[in-house]
Amino acid sequence: MIVSVRVSPKASFNRVVEENGKFKVHLSRPAQDGEANAQLVDLLAGHLKVKKYQIKIVKGLKSRDKSVEVSSSSGRVLNPPLQDKRRMRSVFGSNDEKVIAAFSNRVSGNMSLSYGDASASLDNRKKFLAGLGVDHKSLVCAKQIHSGNLACIDKSHRGCGAVSYNDALDACDGFVTAAKDVPLAIFTADCLPVFIYDPKTPAIGLVHAGWRGSLENIAGSAVRLMRQRFNSRSVDIRVGFGPAIRGCCYEVSVDFQAKFRAGVSVKNGRLYMDLVEVNKAQLLGQGIRPENISEDPVCTFCGGEDFFSFRREKDACGRIISVIMLK
Ligand SMILES: [Zn+2]
Repeated sequence: MIVSVRVSPKASFNRVVEENGKFKVHLSRPAQDGEANAQLVDLLAGHLKVKKYQIKIVKGLKSRDKSVEVSSSSGRVLNPPLQDKRRMRSVFGSNDEKVIAAFSNRVSGNMSLSYGDASASLDNRKKFLAGLGVDHKSLVCAKQIHSGNLACIDKSHRGCGAVSYNDALDACDGFVTAAKDVPLAIFTADCLPVFIYDPKTPAIGLVHAGWRGSLENIAGSAVRLMRQRFNSRSVDIRVGFGPAIRGCCYEVSVDFQAKFRAGVSVKNGRLYMDLVEVNKAQLLGQGIRPENISEDPVCTFCGGEDFFSFRREKDACGRIISVIMLK
């Protein structure tokens, strides 16, 4: 299926609605000629709910257009519409043909089979992953323990923990792989998801970094492991962060100042830690170029209701899923 989209890279949009059997993307201000932005493509992918799709960008949006119409190449009406407007966020953009990397938010529900109300988790995963073109039964999941432990994944691991927590990889907080069609997943609420992508090799990594994992430099270790196993080069590697509790809200005990060289700061006599800053420093230490690191500024604690926050919601808290897969 080919979907034609006309939109500007600068155009922000606020909703997709179905009108007269066709989808219409409403822009919040007039657009100019250009290409689609990743956010829009994500949104459409969520709406289309098809396994395989290709977004074709058509330039030439008229400058006064306030909306764009979306239809399939066959002229068939696309279905079904979704109510939720921000089901997923893509990390490296959706135009990269080699990788899928995205995280969910609260709208898509709890994704954990072991935390929070897990009664709908499998169904939530299935729906969310279908929007990405990922088979939920192929997911590789781990029993995360806030460690620095990493696993090197191949096709034989496909499906570990996908439908049962008991089958998840033991005592592991991150993965690397060069295998295609093997989706890696981690589950978080406040902890930092770190997406690692080497488009040259290609190879990928995904890490769950809370303060303990960060203390073990798990993100830096994942980069090292990719260099060792796949001959990845740090200069080629791109890194993206998912949402996490940030320095605005993550108060930690005073001994953290001695534990972490970067990413902790004192405000009003209290010590705060920023997981993004800690991991960024560690990745730079592994030779990742600053321009290849993109971050999501959202704080899970104070950034509205988009994400689960363990510190805010305690034991009943669900988890978002972060997923990455080589195509
Ligand atoms: Zn905050």
